[in-house]
Amino acid sequence: MSEHPKYLWWNGEPVAWADATVHVSDIAWSATGAVFEGIRAYWNEEQEELYVFRLHEHMQRLKDSSKMVRLPIDVTVDDLIEITVELLRRNGSREDTYIFPLVYFGGARTGRSDPAKLRGDLLITTDPRPSHLGTGVKQRAKMSSWTRISDNVMPPRVKNISNYRNGQLATYEVKLDGYDVALLLGPDGKVSEAPGACVMFVKNDQLITPDPASGILESITRDSIMTLAREDLGMPVIERRVDRTELYTADEIFLCGTMAEITPIVEIDRFQMGDGGIGPVTSELERLFTEAVRGNEPKRESWRTAVEASA
Ligand SMILES: *Cc1c(COP(=O)(O)O)cnc(C)c1O
Repeated sequence: MSEHPKYLWWNGEPVAWADATVHVSDIAWSATGAVFEGIRAYWNEEQEELYVFRLHEHMQRLKDSSKMVRLPIDVTVDDLIEITVELLRRNGSREDTYIFPLVYFGGARTGRSDPAKLRGDLLITTDPRPSHLGTGVKQRAKMSSWTRISDNVMPPRVKNISNYRNGQLATYEVKLDGYDVALLLGPDGKVSEAPGACVMFVKNDQLITPDPASGILESITRDSIMTLAREDLGMPVIERRVDRTELYTADEIFLCGTMAEITPIVEIDRFQMGDGGIGPVTSELERLFTEAVRGNEPKRESWRTAVEASA
């Protein structure tokens, strides 16, 4: 397998990988306002079918993000879906794949201060990325000393590249301290999220997660898992403010997001969760989520976009 896909999508057409270059003077400012999506596609070996997970919702969020950073793009959500499916087909993607659409300010060396002149350039790449669902991965978390960005500073709701500096600072801090993953508190001292993933915990047979005003990115995975918990497990799901110490006495904790999928957390600030293994609710949600994303059940078909593979 080659180290890069054959094609990417760039400003209205498929472009061969090697031909997609920009001038080096563009790098400093083009990404400050840039917004992106992270989307997974899952290969179903028996069906020989690739399923993109909740593509419509991701592309709608890309449009919302690009509006909010004032970098409009002149393609519709339906166009974005069609472009992505076509690109996956063109690249012959027959394995788990990560799709990365990016809207950025091209030619950003000049003119970036005039909002009337801003427009977004669009780039979409597709890369092989295996899922870690079902691999038994477990992580140890630490509360970072960095505070999560807030809505009046750097809106966390937007997948804006600049926002990720905050999560990087937290990640580097806790990794250097020997942990796997960071958690962040908001300016109000309440639990917000992990860098790039939302937090959920189980206590007394309820699934609890910080609400959308807790400085979280409104995760599509989070929404999917809340739906599975409510509809398939009949479990109460509560979105509210969460205290840090609630996590210490939780029965189970996990992270969720496109990258994290479902990642069990077995220790926080050196408090062990349950017996230190993956809890029963987490396991069950992971099983349901896996079936939904891989296309092994009919109930969540509306979440999947099938890419009819080319021969
Ligand atoms: C993308 C992202 C998530 C997860 O959102 P999904 O829609 O599930 O991929 C969580 N937090 C942050 C900061 C993110 O950027």
